[in-house]
Amino acid sequence: MNYKAPRGTRDIFGETVLGLNLLEQKAKEIFIRHGFEEVRTPIFEEAALFTRSIGQTTDIVEKEMYVFEDRKKRKLALRPEGTASLARAFIEHRMDISSPACKFFYSGEMFRYERPQAGRYRQFRQIGAEIYASSSPAADAEIIILAQQVLSSLGIDKINIHINSLGCEKCRPLFREALVKYFSSVEDLCEDCLRRLEKNPLRLLDCKIDSCKFTDVPEMSDYLCSDCKDNFSIVQLLLKKANCNFTVNGKLVRGLDYYTRTVFEVRSDAVGSQDALAAGGRYDNLIKEIGGQNTPAVGFAIGAERALLAAQSVGFFENLKSPEKIFVAIADQELFSEAFTFAVKITRDGINGNKNISVFGPINGKSLTNQLKFADKIQTSKTIVFAKTEFENGKVLIKNMKDKTQSEIELNKL
Ligand code: AMP
Repeated sequence: MNYKAPRGTRDIFGETVLGLNLLEQKAKEIFIRHGFEEVRTPIFEEAALFTRSIGQTTDIVEKEMYVFEDRKKRKLALRPEGTASLARAFIEHRMDISSPACKFFYSGEMFRYERPQAGRYRQFRQIGAEIYASSSPAADAEIIILAQQVLSSLGIDKINIHINSLGCEKCRPLFREALVKYFSSVEDLCEDCLRRLEKNPLRLLDCKIDSCKFTDVPEMSDYLCSDCKDNFSIVQLLLKKANCNFTVNGKLVRGLDYYTRTVFEVRSDAVGSQDALAAGGRYDNLIKEIGGQNTPAVGFAIGAERALLAAQSVGFFENLKSPEKIFVAIADQELFSEAFTFAVKITRDGINGNKNISVFGPINGKSLTNQLKFADKIQTSKTIVFAKTEFENGKVLIKNMKDKTQSEIELNKL
C-alpha cells in the first residue's frame, strides 16, 4: 500500500525550507526591531474559542475547521488562524489586567479545510503580529507598515495594499441595515448568502459565488461615524507620511467577524488567483467577547507559502545560500578515527572561518574510489582526503570536485 501526504498538505524540503527559514528569520528581526515578543500557542484549542471569535457564520467556522473530539469527548479544533489563540493566551495570563501595552508575534502552522490550489493549502504557515491595548491609529499604521517591511525584506516591493474601515458598534448597524435592504433586492442569491442575509450581511460582500453580481453596493465609508472617519483619516495620513502606498477599497470586508475599523489586505499580481499575501486589521471587541477586559487590539498575518511564491517571482531564491557540501574521505582505513575527529571539529568550528557548511563522511570500509563516487553523487564541492604519507607530514589533500584539481594543505591551517 502506498501512502501519500493528505490532500492540501505537502512535504517541504530543499530551497523551499531554506526560503521559509529565511522569511521567518527576516520577519523575526523586523518584529523585534519594532518591539514585538515571540509567543507560541498550542496547535489545537477548544473549538468554541474559534467559533466565538471568528464568527459562527463565517466560511472558516461553517466549512473549514478541523474539529475533533479527544478521548474525554472535549471538542477541539486545529487552529485555523493565530489571532484567537493569542487573544486567549493574553487573557489566560491576565495580561489584559496587568500590561499597559503588549506587542506579540507568532509563526506556525494553520489548518483550514479549503479546496486546495496553488497558494492555497489545508495546512499552511502564517507569520503574524498583534498589538494589544492601543486604540491609537498609529498602531494600525504600524501593523500595515510591518507587513510591508517583511514582504519588502524578501524583495517583494510590487504590492497593492488595500485598506478599508468597517466602523464601530455605533455606525456599523446603519451600514448593516443598508446592506440587508440592498441584498434583499438582488435576485438568485446563493444558499450561503440567503442564510447569512439576516445574521451577517457583511459576509455577502466577499461571497465567492455572488459578489460579482453586486453593483452599486452601499459602502461603509458613507456610514462611518465622525470618530471612525477621523480615525481612518489619521491611519491614512500616517501611512502617507511613512511612504507606504495604499488604495482605499470600500468593498474590502475580510472573512473573519472580529474586525472593527481598519481592515487591510496586501495583494500581489505575482501569485495568481490567490493574490492576498497578508491581511489583518483592528479587532477592538474580541478580547472582551471571549472573556477578557475591554482591550483594543490590531494585528495581521502573512501567508508564508504565498509570500514565498511572490518572492520566487522576483528571484529571491537565486540569492539563497545553501551550505557548502564538504566530504571527508580516507585513502587509508587506519586514518578513520583521525578523519572522524577532524569532521567533528569542522562541524563545530567551521572551515577557514566558514560555518555555512554541511559535512559528510568519513565512511568506514569503502575504497577511496567508492567514497569519491558517493561524494560526487551528493554533489559536494570539496573532498578532504586523509592519506597516509601526507598525514604523516601534517597534511591532507583537498580535491575540488568540480574541476577535479587537487592540492595539499597543512591540516592545522584548516
Ligand atoms: P486570514 O487569516 O484569512 O486573514 O489570512 C491571512 C493570510 O494567510 C492570507 O492573506 C494568505 O496569505 C494566508 N492564507 C489564508 N488561508 C490560506 C490557505 N488556505 N493556504 C495558504 N495561505 C493561506
